[in-house]
Amino acid sequence: MIDPAKLAASTATPASTKPDTVPESATRGQGLDFVREAVRSDLDSGRSQGVRTRFPPEPNGWLHIGHAKAICIVFEVAKDFGGVCNLRFDDTNPEAEDIAYVEAIKRDIRWLGYDWADREFYASDYYEYLFDMAVKLIKKGLAYVDDLSDEETRQYRGTAVPDKNNITFTPPGRNSPWRDRSVAENLDLFAGMRSGEFADGAKTLRAKIDMAHPNLVMRDPVLYRIRREPHYRVGSSWCIYPMYDFQHPLSDAKEGITHSLCSLEYEIHRPLYDWFIRECEVFPSRQIEFARLNVTHTALSKRWLLRLVQDGVVSGWDDPRMPTLAGLRRRGYTPESIREFMSRIGIAKTNSLVDVQLLEYCLREQLNREAPRAMAVLKPLKLVIDNWPAGQVEMLEAVNNPEDPAAGSRQLPFCGELYIERDDFQDPPPPKYFRLFPGNSVRLRYGYIITCTGVELDPATGEVTVVHCDYDPATRGGNAPDNRKVKGTIHWVSAPQAVPLEVRLFDHLFENERPQDVPAGVDWLKTVNPASRQVLAGAFGEPGLAVAQPGAAFQFERLGYFVCDPDTTAGRPVFNRSVSLKDSWAKIEKKQQA
Ligand code: ATP
Ligand code: MG
Repeated sequence: MIDPAKLAASTATPASTKPDTVPESATRGQGLDFVREAVRSDLDSGRSQGVRTRFPPEPNGWLHIGHAKAICIVFEVAKDFGGVCNLRFDDTNPEAEDIAYVEAIKRDIRWLGYDWADREFYASDYYEYLFDMAVKLIKKGLAYVDDLSDEETRQYRGTAVPDKNNITFTPPGRNSPWRDRSVAENLDLFAGMRSGEFADGAKTLRAKIDMAHPNLVMRDPVLYRIRREPHYRVGSSWCIYPMYDFQHPLSDAKEGITHSLCSLEYEIHRPLYDWFIRECEVFPSRQIEFARLNVTHTALSKRWLLRLVQDGVVSGWDDPRMPTLAGLRRRGYTPESIREFMSRIGIAKTNSLVDVQLLEYCLREQLNREAPRAMAVLKPLKLVIDNWPAGQVEMLEAVNNPEDPAAGSRQLPFCGELYIERDDFQDPPPPKYFRLFPGNSVRLRYGYIITCTGVELDPATGEVTVVHCDYDPATRGGNAPDNRKVKGTIHWVSAPQAVPLEVRLFDHLFENERPQDVPAGVDWLKTVNPASRQVLAGAFGEPGLAVAQPGAAFQFERLGYFVCDPDTTAGRPVFNRSVSLKDSWAKIEKKQQA
């Protein structure tokens, strides 16, 4: 999407200032989104001499699909302009950060298909530099040590309030009584904060900007707080920690980040970002915001995800229902399908809610092209072909992938004892039911036409335990020589050679389209869908599935796309359903275009 305002602002483009490292073909011409448009214009005007972006995760949780959007944007924009992208761990909170998160984040970025090479940085490596910058601000009379408590700081800052017409306005805040300390006193106290003279929370360092500023972010933001908590990288060598708003622009500057691309919630922080860059007199990184990704039925708050993990609502960060990259991977999502999803949604400038079915569609499209087909029966019902020659096993040829002739075919054993899907038999049959019921014929996929002759029932429950059929030997391959009308085709697995499978089916973790809209007074944890995971322990698959390796994807005919789970053990494959076959997205898209 192109932002017309940005387009208009970038008309003057003296070609001579353009660095020659920038490939013109990729970025010139039609259809540039507003981020690339802005980058292009900075290059053309000479404001930037090249492109260096960064992905700045805080190592306090695993990456989710929202982060994936940011990752795709920052790496792809850099690539399009012949630039590079740094990975920087934005570590400023000793309580929440952990090396285990660092490792998980690095693994997931690589999995998604991006490489930061040797440009791996940590904000905690900049603590000395950040301290020096704070001292510089103090010396310029632009920072002071404050004795107000957290609570008092909040009160003095003020809040936005609705007036009688319900229009919010922000009355001016109040200056702290410590705001006018001398530079010498501030330098002395700040040194004391660092050397541990004061208790946690007793003092902060604040920027001296404007307590009446209409943007609350600009009302003397806190730069440093005292916190005696060992940090996963610096240990106990610091007892003061920089705040994110101070750390971030200065880390960007230190790394020479030309374009600091981030999600929209940082827009109101941009004046402060620019203030630090200007007053610290450092490299002028430019912050540009894009819409945050929200997906229906999906929670993307790290706080929520952490609680789901900690409370055992899910099996871990990589539970296949989680929107984390690790969860999506385990669910069977591929890096290609996630990148395709990102390129379809584009880089909007306003936040919106994206239908999770679009994500499913992207995976389905890829797996339809690539995944080998297999036969499996999730809820088995025994079927006996009474006129089948006793003990005979025939091999039938099955196509591996009708979308890909190069995938070839395989041989499936077939005999007089099969499993079929319990749903594929009904007595009495509902209207327009073309599958098995007494007297009716169906085609067995790749096999013969069979006719149902009767059933056996469980005497206690009345439930059907065995379906009896006769087959027509002249219909091998499914063709009826007499042009008989047989409407239904069902899948099956030959019972003696069937491989027992565990199959896990999933539904949305939140039935609510917007899980974050929890009604007042309701604990959001209570809104988790209790039926979001179903385990089918008695499923069967065709013989080849016995050797499926974790990560391998299949289309189980008529059932959906499935991926082999790492819980698989020798002789007992476990499969997760990634997506069903049903494609409701194509319909939605058609409707939208109509
Ligand atoms: P928090 O800051 O509350 O811990 P976060 O999701 O913002 O959570 P970060 O590690 O700060 O986590 O995020 C790293 C980057 O990912 C940021 O630049 C942020 O803009 C981006 N990001 C996070 N969530 C989304 C999202 N839903 N859509 C797009 N970008 C996102
Ligand atoms: Mg963040």
